[in-house]
Amino acid sequence: MAEQPLLLADLSWPEVQEILPQVKIVLIPVGSLEQHGPNIAEQSDHRLAFEVSKRVSARLYPRVLVTPPLPFGVSHHHMRFPGTITLEPETFIAVLRDVVKSLARHGLKKFLFVNGHGGNEATLGVAVVKIQEEVSAEFLGSCSYWRLAEDLVRERLGDRLYGHACEFETSVAMALAPDIVKVGALARGEFREAAVELREKARRFGITIAPYFDELTANGVFGDGTRASAEFGQEIAERVVGRLCEFIESVISRPGTKLSDTVG
Ligand SMILES: [Zn+2]
Repeated sequence: MAEQPLLLADLSWPEVQEILPQVKIVLIPVGSLEQHGPNIAEQSDHRLAFEVSKRVSARLYPRVLVTPPLPFGVSHHHMRFPGTITLEPETFIAVLRDVVKSLARHGLKKFLFVNGHGGNEATLGVAVVKIQEEVSAEFLGSCSYWRLAEDLVRERLGDRLYGHACEFETSVAMALAPDIVKVGALARGEFREAAVELREKARRFGITIAPYFDELTANGVFGDGTRASAEFGQEIAERVVGRLCEFIESVISRPGTKLSDTVG
């Protein structure tokens, strides 16, 4: 078994042509380019989605092809911090549709978006439904990588609030992409209690709201980056990659699986 991931961008077209019959699914990493407090770089979400995808691809070589990550996502709620770039949800969906359409033209049939940004989730749900209608794929799905280890993180953090540039995300960055961690600048979130309380209540009641991030936390961190460690990140990454491989194996072995078969 090869240790290297199969990365589309690194192949020549004759190499693509040769490997194509062995490729069973394509991972399309998506994320954002947005503020992550002082703790980690703006590329964090798409980079971590890419790093997770690469590890899955290496483990299942050569059956899993990985495209370059889409560096921009839906990040309106982070725009009040410098550097963030946002797509409109419609643009995001259109780009993903064109990527899947292109890959389908080359004969690929199964696709999974590997997402690194919470703000993309609602749009990705719509994207899967829309693209499935337009492209005749045997499988099209979307996952947010952190959800595959949510039980582990919750177990460790108890009911502490986390979720952005926090002990969870900074730890994963330390393990998978240490070059994006601002080691000397790690900070805990400067929470604005009233807004956080309302958001948590909305979450408990299943009510959707979209607060701007600076209303929740003055420095853009939601959680505590000072508690991050590479060991914790490694443990999370192991759980995510293991479960993702397990899911992908079942998608690969089942012809014609559609999201609509598994979600009611
Ligand atoms: Zn992030």
